[in-house]
Amino acid sequence: MSQKTDVRKVAEADFPSRFGHFRIFGFEGCTAGAAPEEAVALVMGDLMGGIPPLVRIHSQCLTGDVFHSLRCDCGAQLELALESIAAEGRGVLIYDNQEGRGIGLLNKLRAYELQDGGADTVEANQQLGFQADLRGYELAGGILRHLGLTAVRLMSNNPQKIQALEDSGVRVAERVPSIIPPIASTEDYLRTKRDKLGHLFDQDKPSDDTPGDPFLGVWELDPTTLDYQFGRPGRRAVYTIEPSPKGEGFQFTLDADDADGKPMHHVYGGALDGVDVPVPGYPVTLTFTRLDASRIESVLKRDGKVADRWIRTIAPDGQSITITQHGVTPEGREFVNKGVYRRVR
Ligand SMILES: [Zn+2]
Repeated sequence: MSQKTDVRKVAEADFPSRFGHFRIFGFEGCTAGAAPEEAVALVMGDLMGGIPPLVRIHSQCLTGDVFHSLRCDCGAQLELALESIAAEGRGVLIYDNQEGRGIGLLNKLRAYELQDGGADTVEANQQLGFQADLRGYELAGGILRHLGLTAVRLMSNNPQKIQALEDSGVRVAERVPSIIPPIASTEDYLRTKRDKLGHLFDQDKPSDDTPGDPFLGVWELDPTTLDYQFGRPGRRAVYTIEPSPKGEGFQFTLDADDADGKPMHHVYGGALDGVDVPVPGYPVTLTFTRLDASRIESVLKRDGKVADRWIRTIAPDGQSITITQHGVTPEGREFVNKGVYRRVR
């Protein structure tokens, strides 16, 4: 659970822009034991009623936002967000001053220097002694609540933002991808964001030089790896993981034999954004969450209560997935079941 941040509105004014007519708000946030933070919110239209409004939380990037740098896609993402909000006639852009994923402007320039020497964006931050991503989103959550919002449609590719917002009490009703087609100078940067920071680019235009997500493929159970504390597993199972038909996440197709050798066929999945989805024909919901680049969690709820939790972890070489199930027996005893699936293609 995140620290509570007290948010105070410092100013509010009329704000015409070339993207459309906003109101501009200045906010100050105080978290116990931390220096006060500042952020600006651009608000368009009536936020109350109707479907949850489009929201973008944009972290300051001087080089991208002001100088239109081609080392990153921040400037283009900012413009896309403002254009998208203007197109819907309502929404919020929160601009917070966490320059360089929280390391500050000059450190970001030092990181660029290291990147010129061959490091990627994550390695460079680590070589400078910073974590890959220092950003927190408590202030943004507090601002949204201050604006009266309890649910939003979040424009983001970053699952940590979704989690952080939900932790701060704002429900993410939908994740709206923010996809800027890569250009030569941003390709490596975007690939690193996806592979090392778990950002989702599942609506990428298919392109020969953009490798797909490592989870995509056909996976076959290696029955010698089955390690079951509860239940008797079937010996045959093939998982197909592909982009979901609407392109917002993954679709999992399981073809398997149950413990008695009877064939089963299940198709499920959806956005990897932690939002419950009903499973047609069953009294349960499933939630899929991209925990990081190498892990996807799904949670099965019966009557709103968590019944089982699976974590799929892909090996660093991308050639096997370990599926770990955490569950509770009908008698209330916790168990862990495990199996390894090898890539078929
Ligand atoms: Zn940037």
